[in-house]
Amino acid sequence: DTIGDNLDRTVQAHGDRDALIDQAGGRRWTYREFNAEVDALALGLLANGVSKGDRVGIWAPNCPEWTFVQYATAKIGAILVNINPAYRAHELEYVLNQAGIRMLIAAERFKTSDYVAMISEVRPRCPALTDVVLIGGDEWHALSRTGREADPARLAEVQRTLSADDPINIQYTSGTTGFPKGATLSHHNILNNGFFVGELCNYTECDVICIPVPFYHCFGMVMGNLAATTHGACMVIPAPAFDPKATLEAVQAQRCTSLYGVPTMFIAELSEPSFDDYDLSSLRTGIMAGSPCPVEVMKQVIERMGMAEVSICYGMTETSPVSTQTRADDSIERRVSTVGRVGPHLEVKIVDPATGLTVPRGEPGELCTRGYSVMLGYWEEPDKTAEAIDAARWMHTGDLAVMDDEGYVNITGRIKDMVIRGGENVYPREIEEFLYTHPDILDAQVIGVPDARYGEELMAWIRMREGAEPLTAESLREFCTGKLAHYKIPRYVHVVDDFPMTVTGKVRKVEMREKAVELLG
Ligand code: ATP
Ligand code: MG
Repeated sequence: DTIGDNLDRTVQAHGDRDALIDQAGGRRWTYREFNAEVDALALGLLANGVSKGDRVGIWAPNCPEWTFVQYATAKIGAILVNINPAYRAHELEYVLNQAGIRMLIAAERFKTSDYVAMISEVRPRCPALTDVVLIGGDEWHALSRTGREADPARLAEVQRTLSADDPINIQYTSGTTGFPKGATLSHHNILNNGFFVGELCNYTECDVICIPVPFYHCFGMVMGNLAATTHGACMVIPAPAFDPKATLEAVQAQRCTSLYGVPTMFIAELSEPSFDDYDLSSLRTGIMAGSPCPVEVMKQVIERMGMAEVSICYGMTETSPVSTQTRADDSIERRVSTVGRVGPHLEVKIVDPATGLTVPRGEPGELCTRGYSVMLGYWEEPDKTAEAIDAARWMHTGDLAVMDDEGYVNITGRIKDMVIRGGENVYPREIEEFLYTHPDILDAQVIGVPDARYGEELMAWIRMREGAEPLTAESLREFCTGKLAHYKIPRYVHVVDDFPMTVTGKVRKVEMREKAVELLG
């Protein structure tokens, strides 16, 4: 099946059920109505000469039109290129040229960013770019109008020529550890991943999924949208960009059964002063993923948000994205403290990065994964692809993990974030987990900073709870002494209001390390 065939099937089965709700805009579409928008746009694109393999860029915050474009491009076999809503002109130019984007579909603006001005600025330097369509603008309406007047048989004919292994999507990684890389993904890659993520969440057509994570990222567009449409469930967009109150409001108003977020989003919702005013009793499940999910936060999500079946997923853009996931019937202990077991039809192994050999169970190593989920490659970067995917098609993730005897996986950090202090390997994750148990600490991140004596020293960046006294290195030392080995106790403490973040809500430790070097002078 292609993504388009799959959507058509869902429409046949659940045409009158809600497909999409735009909470902020007060609009909603049934599957039949949703598909009509998608088909009109698909036919409009065809009429404009967009064909299979052409790159169509989408640059917009979460909005209903984003999803129409996602499915319309899939139906005609065009390659959708997700562009980060936070990009500035020079980054936009890079993506437009790197992916050879022919048509750019964009919002007019987002927050303080004037997209129209940035597009005009870079356009003369982007030779492949022939069409720019502003969502809601004249060209946008013309596209769907043309599509509505076109012969639908044309679309069916094109759909028949597509193959599930065709590239359909270029998704850029979050850029947490450096410059984002464009992962090229097929229908087969992401349709299956969305489907299996939904299966393990036990989705049916009765589920209503609140998606505050960005569509531009796989968390939104695959684990959200594709998990929903493969099951006839409903997608809810609480707001264009993450806002804790808007999210809680959408859950209450639409009686959502599932809620997504990276850990920082759940932390923001739980610490929202008006949290107790919302009725969240409709929530059954949800997904926390994207970065290490602190046990404390998971417990609160289950207890205070009532998400009894909440699951943790682990994955990366390059693997469509999910590789491991906790199941609703796993023990609570495992569901809050591991990233679950390998997903259906996938393989995971943990190897010694030096030798490439699989390590014994319980020992740390690099997580590698193989199966339908592994991307076709990085778009036009064969060298990087060859570094990441070996000859046997194993994707080397760059993440450190441990697998127990029963196959449950624990992510202990990224290879790039591991700190070597005086010859000891220190996993910042372990220290962060411990710091979360401090009553005054809202959020904690630990990094390595260069040190003449030990090679590296540890620095904790801390966000304090409202009203709490800022921690000092001494008070932190006191708290840790006797509970953490001496070499794991952070030598430096830096209290901040916010961490440097990616749009996907991940903490950018690279940036923190640069800043730390400055601070230590
Ligand atoms: P870049 O590759 O550009 O540096 P990135 O790796 O953050 O950015 P993504 O593909 O969005 O880009 O994220 C994948 C990474 O997120 C994984 O490699 C892993 O390090 C981290 N991650 C995802 N889920 C989890 C999880 N449940 N627990 C811990 N880490 C996770
Ligand atoms: Mg990565």
